[in-house]
Amino acid sequence: MPTPIKSSETIRVAISGGGPAGLAAAIALREVPGIEVTIYEQATELREVGAGIRIGFNSWKVLELLGVADKVHGHKKVVHEHRDGTTGELQYRYPAHYGEEKYHDIRARRTVLQAALLSKVPKEVIQLRKRLVTTKQLPGGQVRLNFEDGTSADADLLIGADGIRSVGTTIWRCLIPLDLVKHSVLLKSTAFHHGPGTNFKCSIVSTPEEIAAGKGQWEMTLRYREDPAKATGKKFSWGVPVSNERVASHFTAFTPAIQEAISLAPEGVWKEFAAFSGPRLEHIIANGNTTIIGDASHPLLGAFGSGAAFAMQDGWLIAQILRYYLGRELPKADALARTLELFDSIRSPYYHRMYDYLDSPGAEGSAKGSTLTADPKAPLYWIFGSDIGAQWDEIRAGLP
Ligand SMILES: Cc1cc2nc3c(=O)[nH]c(=O)nc-3n(C[C@H](O)[C@H](O)[C@H](O)COP(=O)(O)OP(=O)(O)OC[C@H]3O[C@@H](n4cnc5c(N)ncnc54)[C@H](O)[C@@H]3O)c2cc1C
Repeated sequence: MPTPIKSSETIRVAISGGGPAGLAAAIALREVPGIEVTIYEQATELREVGAGIRIGFNSWKVLELLGVADKVHGHKKVVHEHRDGTTGELQYRYPAHYGEEKYHDIRARRTVLQAALLSKVPKEVIQLRKRLVTTKQLPGGQVRLNFEDGTSADADLLIGADGIRSVGTTIWRCLIPLDLVKHSVLLKSTAFHHGPGTNFKCSIVSTPEEIAAGKGQWEMTLRYREDPAKATGKKFSWGVPVSNERVASHFTAFTPAIQEAISLAPEGVWKEFAAFSGPRLEHIIANGNTTIIGDASHPLLGAFGSGAAFAMQDGWLIAQILRYYLGRELPKADALARTLELFDSIRSPYYHRMYDYLDSPGAEGSAKGSTLTADPKAPLYWIFGSDIGAQWDEIRAGLP
């Protein structure tokens, strides 16, 4: 009969990918006794490309658990609007706050979130230029990671947090100095402007102090749904510079204010991203030693403006479950297998509930209107009001 894990025994956890999911997992796992964590990241440096990111109640709650909430700052949204991009007509608006001031919805620069997470991950935990290409199951129950550079590493548990990027929807994003658009009506709100097969989103992403110091920045995120037939064979792009002309050519039906804002971006700041919305996996674990978290497990195309929150929740949760089973005096393989099973049984149904919502009549692939708030009476409170810490406390109380 296999013997339980000795308290002196180390569990080696390998995380592939250093985005919000991988960094959150590393922060939380480093607090579990007996775990040695390494992040293997393909990039030569950890540098977040892209523009802004929404930090709402669900993100704040997990950032608190990770101990970095005080390092995240940005533009406090007052109101969130949806407008017809071609006429400017208001479709709906809803408040962008939830109860306590500290949980107010903000729009932050992605680099701010990444820096906050990185501040809790020592440099030696991250190995750069390690692009995972294949994995192999070893006879002892471990998993071998083979990297593009010909090296390899063995681990007791592999957490795939390497995101997902493909073609389908093209997204163009940029940050520009706020001063360039200070006269624009678009500055009045954080808003989505919808057009046929496209949408334009804009928001301030800086704090009042940054704005007062002349360092204010404004974000534009434009989406364009490619015709799948034409997209076939299209070269994958992620953070690739794109000309103003290419971006503007898809928004000629939009209001003059939007067209002007697009044209005001200095040449070279627009970056193109290819986004992907599938596949919808039934389960996110394998072999008793491997799981995927964050976008790698449930790409949602930014449908709920919470992908980073989901990714960080996944990372934090798996660490708590592992801590629980490592404390049960089980053989190592059992502890790991049970960890993965419980993790899968909590997160997979959660993402399937989201997919079901996105498929439902009226949702049209994204969360809308008042559903976006973390108001307990709002229909999507189970997403926007989710508090992963409270959820885990409840689940744990029901465990033997
Ligand atoms: C346009 C747009 C707007 C969005 N807006 C919001 C928002 O407002 N709020 C929000 O919360 N979320 C938003 N999201 C979603 C959010 O950006 C993602 O959900 C989040 O970044 C997922 O984190 P992740 O760590 O799972 O993946 P990623 O951020 O994709 O990180 C994956 C990491 O893995 C590395 N990697 C990839 N392949 C390998 C490999 N083979 N080996 C090693 N390393 C590898 C990558 O270099 C990267 O560092 C938006 C997404 C899009 C596309």
